[in-house]
Amino acid sequence: MEQRQGYFVISLDFELFWGMSDVTTLAEYGPNIYGERTAVPRMLEAFAAQDIHATWATVGMLMARNKDELLSLLPPRDKRPAYLDMRMSSYYHLENDSIGRDENDDPYHYGSSLVKLIQKTPHQEIANHTFSHYYAVDGHENDPAILIRDLEAHRGIARTYGVETTSIVFPRNQVTQETLRICRDHGMDAYRGNENHFLYRARKTGEQSRFIRGLRLLDHYINISGQHTYPLPKNEAGMVNVQASRFLRPYMKSLGFLEPLRMLRIKRAMTHAAKNGEVFHLWWHPHNFGINQEENFKNLTSILTHFKKLQDTYGMKSVTMKEIATISSE
Ligand SMILES: [Zn+2]
Repeated sequence: MEQRQGYFVISLDFELFWGMSDVTTLAEYGPNIYGERTAVPRMLEAFAAQDIHATWATVGMLMARNKDELLSLLPPRDKRPAYLDMRMSSYYHLENDSIGRDENDDPYHYGSSLVKLIQKTPHQEIANHTFSHYYAVDGHENDPAILIRDLEAHRGIARTYGVETTSIVFPRNQVTQETLRICRDHGMDAYRGNENHFLYRARKTGEQSRFIRGLRLLDHYINISGQHTYPLPKNEAGMVNVQASRFLRPYMKSLGFLEPLRMLRIKRAMTHAAKNGEVFHLWWHPHNFGINQEENFKNLTSILTHFKKLQDTYGMKSVTMKEIATISSE
């Protein structure tokens, strides 16, 4: 019997401070964001060395080369998202925080040199993480035209890099049926759905209870919610759900002694996917590697080494979200 092929997907939510400005401050989280300056090149080197294909879902605003370019891309005021807590809006921060002139002046909000580095590395896909880090569930009362305008702004800035994005990762993994329909109608054909378990259901930012968060944390060390590997997804009405399997949490010193357990849980799921011809999809944010880089890269290296073993033994393949969507639609 022919062995079915397993797939290893990596996606990164590349957002600099745009994805964090409502939940923390630069004084507190700045070092993690600044650390992306070294972490991203280092990740790309690790990927290139092992021929890893990865998807970089990038916030459009960080792709702007300077403030003039950024301002030129903004939607008119009546086409910007509203949220119950307006601090969730990147436009609020553009008006109320000091956003610098360009990447030299403000490495926390501009990242064009990193985008170019990703582009130069073989087998890396630049994808969409929305233009403004748009929240589909928190912003569910916004008119659909607002998301459409956001997608248009993302397309505009991506094209200045010669990139046509076709995969999308939703900020905070907030996805609704309507969002999917709009994205499909605007050039997207793959998205990263949430892990298929009630712990990982899309919720509003304020509705992540302590209990759920505690269980999710525990789930990284012991198997509570399952392996989250799955057979090659089907193209459903023009969209392929390249579901997440696992978030690669940043290293935490206080739980450092449990790291072997956490890595084992990831590797077991990868092995399960490789043996059964299924998909394992690992994701994280580059800023998760911004501090404690030695420990975080040690973990990544051990995961990539494990992948190599699965590649040699079971023919597991490293693919981007776009590549999964292509294979699924064949
Ligand atoms: Zn994000």
